Amino acid sequence: MPFSKLGLSDPIVKAVTELGYETPTPIQEKAIPVILTGKNLIAAAQTGTGKTASFVLPIIQMLSEEQRTVRRKRIRALILVPTRELAVQVENNVAQYSKHLALNSLAMYGGVDARQQKQQLIEGVDILVATPGRLLDMYSQRAVHFDELDILVLDEADRMLDMGFIEDINKIIERLPLERQNLLFSATLSKQVRILAKTAIDSPVEISVSPDSATTPQIDQWLITVDKDKKSALLSHLIKENQWDQALIFIETKHGAAKLVSQLEKRGINAEAFHSGRSQEVRAQLLADFKSGKLNLLVATGVAARGIDIDNLTRVVNYDLPFPADDYVHRIGRTGRAGASGEAVSFVSKDDFKNLCMIESRLGHLITRKEVEGFAPRKEVPISILNYVPKSKQNVGRNNPKNRPSNDRANKKNNQGTKGNS
Ligand code: AMP
Repeated sequence: MPFSKLGLSDPIVKAVTELGYETPTPIQEKAIPVILTGKNLIAAAQTGTGKTASFVLPIIQMLSEEQRTVRRKRIRALILVPTRELAVQVENNVAQYSKHLALNSLAMYGGVDARQQKQQLIEGVDILVATPGRLLDMYSQRAVHFDELDILVLDEADRMLDMGFIEDINKIIERLPLERQNLLFSATLSKQVRILAKTAIDSPVEISVSPDSATTPQIDQWLITVDKDKKSALLSHLIKENQWDQALIFIETKHGAAKLVSQLEKRGINAEAFHSGRSQEVRAQLLADFKSGKLNLLVATGVAARGIDIDNLTRVVNYDLPFPADDYVHRIGRTGRAGASGEAVSFVSKDDFKNLCMIESRLGHLITRKEVEGFAPRKEVPISILNYVPKSKQNVGRNNPKNRPSNDRANKKNNQGTKGNS
């Protein structure tokens, strides 16, 4: 089905065509017509499915139809996002999609000087993409009023909850007009997300895109068991042996990122660290260089890298395994986007075992293990327990068979699969 059949106007179809989009993705096909009718919506869709356009395109369609100029300190649509990187990325999409329309937009987030954002806000913004904290800050400074707001989007709702934004979100929602359209997008519709949806969204239409649809990114996942102190040598080895053209390498701490970059440097490999200790300008430059191919290896802390959108990223490396397990899903979602294929490699030492159990339980299958000659670990990493329940969530003790290690046949069989994406 072409974009023009979804009820979108010529200037919007023109903008997406110029971006090279030929047909709508499944989430776009499902969500756009519903949103255009003015209904509330909750959607289960992961990053990489084209979810941003699925709400931005109908929003700009509806706002442009109204032909109303936004008044000072007013906003017409609010998109709440968890991180500054995602705010920049979503606003960037809004600007691209509405380039042939007379609409303005602004990305507003903390960690940078607020003056410029505030000034633009005061002049009135059609579509505001904001992180919750900075928005509340601006609201308390009376730089924005919500009385003319028509549409609220909660983007990556699960992530906002994971990051502890629930109170801020509730405070914002309490201040919005009761008459409004609400859209919620989340990778998973967990219990917490549903509770949030219930308080914020009246009788929504619910849609989801099935993770195994043909357009789902093809991500080849595998892991290498390795001792912790050998990880940097292993990384250098893989980069050199396999002549990796590009990799986004996730690591847990700022300090770890800086150390790894210097270890790589000593082996003649050029990489840059991307973390919250670097200024917004430096981070923006690094991302631009990484996207353009000027920089091949980016070592990023999980927190800083949330929301990074890089088209056709071929490879993600989990130098450390993330916690919670949803972060793993988000991280690997950075690769294999919009139908492209990608590779997600994880380095797993014995210390990572608990996180590995949680990730593989979340995936519902074991990730394929590969061995690299010369890097076999001294401390073996056991096979995961697929129904792993963290201690804090166990209400029955060790005698519950569910909590016992299960080196059963099914697990072993699963582990022999060819590709991890089984
Ligand atoms: P998202 O899930 O919103 O993060 O989008 C993932 C990527 O898919 C972004 O880089 C978009 O530019 C791209 N994209 C979105 N819609 C389409 C489409 N219909 N055709 C091709 N690429 C798309």
